[in-house]
Amino acid sequence: MKSLSESNQTSLANRSLDAVWHPCTQMKHHESLPLVAITHGKGAYLFDEQGNKLLDCISSWWTNLFGHSNPLINQAISSQLEKIEHVMLAGFTHPPVVELSEKLSALTLGHLGHVFFASDGASAVEVSLKMSHHYWRLQNKPQKKKFVCVENGYHGETLGALAITDVAIFREAYGSLLQDVFTVPSPDARKAQEGQTSEDIAIQAAKKLELLLETEHHQIAAVIVEPLVQCAGQMAMHSPKYLKQVRDLCDRFNVHLIADEIAVGCGRTGKFFACEHAGIWPDFLTLSKGISGGYLPLSLSMTTDKIYHAFYGDKVQQAFLHSHSYTGNPLACAAALACLKIFETESVLEKNLERSADLAKAFAWAKEDGRVTHWRQQGMILAFDIQSQYLETHPSFVREMFAASLAEGMLIRPIGNTIYVMPPYILSAEQALQMGTSVQRALNRVIT
Ligand SMILES: *Cc1c(COP(=O)(O)O)cnc(C)c1O
Repeated sequence: MKSLSESNQTSLANRSLDAVWHPCTQMKHHESLPLVAITHGKGAYLFDEQGNKLLDCISSWWTNLFGHSNPLINQAISSQLEKIEHVMLAGFTHPPVVELSEKLSALTLGHLGHVFFASDGASAVEVSLKMSHHYWRLQNKPQKKKFVCVENGYHGETLGALAITDVAIFREAYGSLLQDVFTVPSPDARKAQEGQTSEDIAIQAAKKLELLLETEHHQIAAVIVEPLVQCAGQMAMHSPKYLKQVRDLCDRFNVHLIADEIAVGCGRTGKFFACEHAGIWPDFLTLSKGISGGYLPLSLSMTTDKIYHAFYGDKVQQAFLHSHSYTGNPLACAAALACLKIFETESVLEKNLERSADLAKAFAWAKEDGRVTHWRQQGMILAFDIQSQYLETHPSFVREMFAASLAEGMLIRPIGNTIYVMPPYILSAEQALQMGTSVQRALNRVIT
């Protein structure tokens, strides 16, 4: 660390490199890659220290739904601030957490009527895992303690969530700390060979799960899936048929289904919950990221009456004994309520149909581009892959593409050889078009 007086003469970015350990980053790479210091944001744009304007094509890590500094959400938080900023949720409650729970439960038509709050996505996943196993213990089936996860899936990076995450780069160093899990093949539609449909791949993948459950169901608590899109797993998309089949299998073998909608929930895939595309409800559904509109950390796990009632009794030990200090924070809940109100009053899901059509149009060039393969879209997520031969000459493609996008006035952040956009739901047709042409120009800078 430099002294504070020295620091005041350097740029914010350099001070940050000195004092802040950035997430998911090899800090040394910042010797060549600029760290971008954002001083403010408005709508779909971020503004950096030098006054450059960046179009936020990835909703600031998939969290922002209605733009930066949204007046309605700002107002909701500041008026909540005048009332109560935080109070513990054990033994206490407050209006925003009650209203939010009621609204979310209504959105599931009462199927998932009990909302347990946490603070970040990984902790909501941990809540679901613990609750599932605890439920089976309460049913005198304590041997049901293993979890099934999907190849290429991502559920967060705390130790419990990381154990069910199948993204090598996040697991490599910590494998020896993680509990054993079962991993089944991904229904990733990109696996389809000539003449196969995404449904065929879904059926094949579900068949593998069936074989596993047939022999191991007695020791399995739950299967966890990311409905429709494995976002961190390179935006791998699959047919809703998979979800339908997994739901049937979980029922047949007496295993819980956890739908991790932390990235795909809140309208991202075209419906409020991605599970709605398959017409199913899971036993646990997790939300975070978009739920507070990208304003404040908030996460939750929703579950059924049946599971809730198993914990209801006279003994303390029968209760779900899990807590986080900021569980159900009133400011975060107020932000979430403001978001749900925007969904209603501005017919967001209907309007997003046009917005996703705008995105498809803006990226139509990529379908014809010889460098591109596996063009795909689900609602407000559009992705495509760069053919592997181009990456041999560009081993640091991700960073090159990130830097080129900054030069084109955009924030995009490829995952491996996948370029994707996942913009906020306020994108105009012009901004969509700008996104499409700027991504093409950035790609041309990197791969000529
Ligand atoms: C981001 C993400 C998480 C983890 O959320 P954090 O808030 O980063 O802990 C879990 N599951 C999915 C599907 C995610 O995309």
